[in-house]
Amino acid sequence: MRPTGMLHIGHYYGTLLNWLKFQSEYDCFYSIVDWHALTTKYEESHQIKQNVFEVLLDWLSVGINPEIATVYLQSAIPEIAVLHLLLSMITPQNWVEREPTLKDMIKMLAKDETQALMRATYGLIGYPVLMTADILMFKGNLVPVGKDQESHLEFARDVARKFNSLYKVDYFPEPMPKFTQTPLIKGVDGQKMGKSFDNDIKIADTDADTVSKITKAITDRTRQTKNQPGHTDLCEVPYPLYKILVDENSLGKVKEECESAKIGCLDCKKQLAGVLNDTFREIRHKRSELAKKPDEVLKILDHGNKAASKIARQTLSDVESIMGFSVFSK
Ligand code: SF4
Repeated sequence: MRPTGMLHIGHYYGTLLNWLKFQSEYDCFYSIVDWHALTTKYEESHQIKQNVFEVLLDWLSVGINPEIATVYLQSAIPEIAVLHLLLSMITPQNWVEREPTLKDMIKMLAKDETQALMRATYGLIGYPVLMTADILMFKGNLVPVGKDQESHLEFARDVARKFNSLYKVDYFPEPMPKFTQTPLIKGVDGQKMGKSFDNDIKIADTDADTVSKITKAITDRTRQTKNQPGHTDLCEVPYPLYKILVDENSLGKVKEECESAKIGCLDCKKQLAGVLNDTFREIRHKRSELAKKPDEVLKILDHGNKAASKIARQTLSDVESIMGFSVFSK
């Protein structure tokens, strides 16, 4: 996960809940990929350190357990950078250029196409290879992704296959996608929830922040007054959020009250903010307690870094030896 700021409830329902499940089913590696943050945020490099801490707090407070999963920081494992370099030597340039997500990332750098191309760096163009190094370093068999990220895994598989065939080995496994259910969580403006769109509800938000943000959420645009019945199927943000947060009975009650005009949108949204605050109360409390002990939190990361380093050193040594390239370092 790129450390670009505090995480929001879209990350929680879309990613972290799956990770919580996986950590007790698989041998999981969860990485804060700070070099990937640099690929687009190189002008704000001084913020990345704080963002790493915020992401770590979010992970730990929701229940990511460093006792059973390896939690580490990408830049603490320099072997990943070396593997990235070695893999970049065998990866054809046109494989990188055809990556659809790369084009999207370049577009996001600036509204104007020429400016966006000026801002796209060598590091950004090579990010699919860096991501491949992240996966292959730990011989990842399965990578949790949404359908829209499937091309990432195809790329990593192609590179793994090329390495194995070029050097006549069966060393890297071909990583397969572990498709996850990722409900689309809309931001309060009805667009996809995102940190940079100023439309998100953060895991760490206070109760008051949550109420204030939710009361601005777009509802049923056809409903003009409180006395007019609402349409839950046209309700853009609150009703879809209720669907994720409450059980069927409570959802039925919201639907009935909305469609019979027993409740106005403002009250309905205040009620929803209450549900959100109740859902995240314990997590937020844990987060604020952890934030008071930064040294302890960073020690947890250090522990994971050491475990990841051990594996990374072995992988890199194997790779150099397979490539016959270890003559100067041995
Ligand atoms: Fe949406 Fe609630 Fe308004 Fe109905 S009453 S349109 S569910 S906000």
